[in-house]
Amino acid sequence: MQVEHLRNIAIIAHVDHGKTTLVDKLLRATDAFRSNQQIEERVLDSNDQERERGITILAKNCSIEYKGVKINVIDTPGHADFGGEVERVLKMADGALLLVDAFEGPMPQTRFVLRHAIDTGLRIMIVINKIDRPAADPERAYNDCLDLMADLGATDEQLEFAMEHVVYASAVNGYARRSPEDDNNDMFPLLDMIIDDMPAPEVDECAPLAMQCVTIDHSNFVGRIGIGRVFSGTLHEGDTILVQKNDGTTTTSKIKQLFTFDYLGRTECSEVGAGDIAAVVGVEGADIGDVYTDPEHPVELAPILIDPPTLSVV
Ligand code: GDP
Repeated sequence: MQVEHLRNIAIIAHVDHGKTTLVDKLLRATDAFRSNQQIEERVLDSNDQERERGITILAKNCSIEYKGVKINVIDTPGHADFGGEVERVLKMADGALLLVDAFEGPMPQTRFVLRHAIDTGLRIMIVINKIDRPAADPERAYNDCLDLMADLGATDEQLEFAMEHVVYASAVNGYARRSPEDDNNDMFPLLDMIIDDMPAPEVDECAPLAMQCVTIDHSNFVGRIGIGRVFSGTLHEGDTILVQKNDGTTTTSKIKQLFTFDYLGRTECSEVGAGDIAAVVGVEGADIGDVYTDPEHPVELAPILIDPPTLSVV
């Protein structure tokens, strides 16, 4: 996948503001654009099943394919207890959707993740959701978002970008509009805004390999799976890589299998290029913060914050 055909976006939302519903509707709206849709089961319709599907979406990242562009959607935990994790996962993104309920406006959890997104330098688009609610006040919610961004130290560039990139949505009804007066009934204005104006990853494909593991998955069959963004170079299945651990030690490891995000699942592939997000199988003891790099030309990346161990109070 060429880097100009990639977008990595995080979604920042307070619980219940409609993240699951929005992602679900974006996936449905783009079904027709997918190249390998035959392998996927069809969208389910009853409410219960819908709920289950939502849980699946939230459990992991997913990707949307639209007009030849692959949009990796990175879920962010919306709670301050996950401070370290928020910082880490935002490192995979170039932009973020700030999703806010048109009635409630931005909430404390929104503020927390938004601060990190601003500090990370992400481009932020605003999605005012639930505009169908009778008491919704989309303009007020939008202005509150901009005020909050300014409060949290957004740069002039970030503020200007947010002002120019807003949609008014009713995720539950499947539409996103560039202005509350529009009457389109689909999600395409939001999808177009993302592929047209969210930045593609800025990466050096020719530089030596550097990937940082920001989350770990686990499978009974293959063990620990390291997930992160490839910052430079290309990962290949079968490659021997240098693994730099957080404690400063290094080991070498062979990549047994490689995956990228694909719709709600993952697809195995033989290589993953700079800018994309990879899931790597084969690194013994894979851990958060591990850097995978080229043994001949090792690249140093800044260590990342690890959550302090959780204290259990009896
Ligand atoms: P999440 O916690 O952010 O993932 O929120 P969900 O997507 O689960 O939505 C929370 C609730 O808000 C659910 O009952 C949704 O049906 C409802 N909801 C989501 N989007 C909209 C919307 O655009 N309008 C209205 N009225 N309700 C919505």
